[in-house]
Amino acid sequence: MINNVAVIGAGTMGNGIAHVFAQHNFHVTLIDISSQQLEKALATISKNLDRQITKGQITEAEKQSALQNIVISTDIDQGVAAAHLVVEAATENENLKLQIFRQIDAIAPQDCILATNTSSISITKIAAATQRPQQVIGMHFMNPVPVMKLVEVINGYHTSSYVTGTIVELSKQLGKIPALANDYPGFVANRILMPMINEAIYTLQEGVADVEAIDTIMKLGMAHPMGPLQLADFIGLDVCLSIMKVLHEGFGDPKYAPCPLLVNMVHAGRLGVKTGEGFYVYTPGSKELVVSEKFRK
Ligand code: NAD
Repeated sequence: MINNVAVIGAGTMGNGIAHVFAQHNFHVTLIDISSQQLEKALATISKNLDRQITKGQITEAEKQSALQNIVISTDIDQGVAAAHLVVEAATENENLKLQIFRQIDAIAPQDCILATNTSSISITKIAAATQRPQQVIGMHFMNPVPVMKLVEVINGYHTSSYVTGTIVELSKQLGKIPALANDYPGFVANRILMPMINEAIYTLQEGVADVEAIDTIMKLGMAHPMGPLQLADFIGLDVCLSIMKVLHEGFGDPKYAPCPLLVNMVHAGRLGVKTGEGFYVYTPGSKELVVSEKFRK
């Protein structure tokens, strides 16, 4: 029975994951190396719970109960010592994740399931850093976690069917819809999404169409909520590039080669929303979508 959940990493995804578990009455320990990041995460969770109150989805009492279900900690060992499930959502860096999994494997109770929210790192490789590869699984939430329904559940080579079944059921308990994938580069979501984004950037690079036209065609033509260039800005162009590299190296197929314009933009520090500019310019407080000067006619 899973009651105590440790979430490692209190960034964009970690605060959302903690929010959703806490809202569904799990005891959550949210862990980060930065206490500032932990305070910021709590403020974000509180603000996002307020938004749910405004929408009539939860009551003030449910907000307070969710907040009471969360404790924060900078001590990873203490945080995972009584966990039934750990969900790792630290920075997307392979060596860091291997080190975290080595550490939590040594401390977490024997039957604790170790899940990772990685977008692209091999679950099997992460599991190999532990003595319990059958209890390691991908639990890939989508951003923003409190809103997005999908959990991509990824089986590593050794993941047991019991662990998969537990995570599938747990995802449903969180009000999410789980979908199963196996551990190949990019799993399902990013294997399909990232080449589409990469192709959109090639289309721009080759002058087939401008930023607005590409996004309008994909948005209205395919009924996507946002165009691929805007989505790339939202995800972060550095993240898109690193996932394309995982696909390219993992399959050894030139069809996954990152578009040179994507590479250039990352080198130039134009990473999208997080740096204030990518294909579009982002001004705090403004929702207007303005194409970057670089791509204006
Ligand atoms: P982020 O940079 O917003 O947050 C990462 C957090 O991890 C930071 O607060 C950092 O201080 C913390 N951290 C770093 N080292 C740590 C350690 N040793 N112990 C504890 N905390 C540590 O990153 P994010 O966007 O939240 O991504 C987290 C994970 O989720 C990544 O694996 C990423 O691939 C995946 N993911 C991201 C998205 C997205 O849209 N951002 C979507 C799906 C999955």
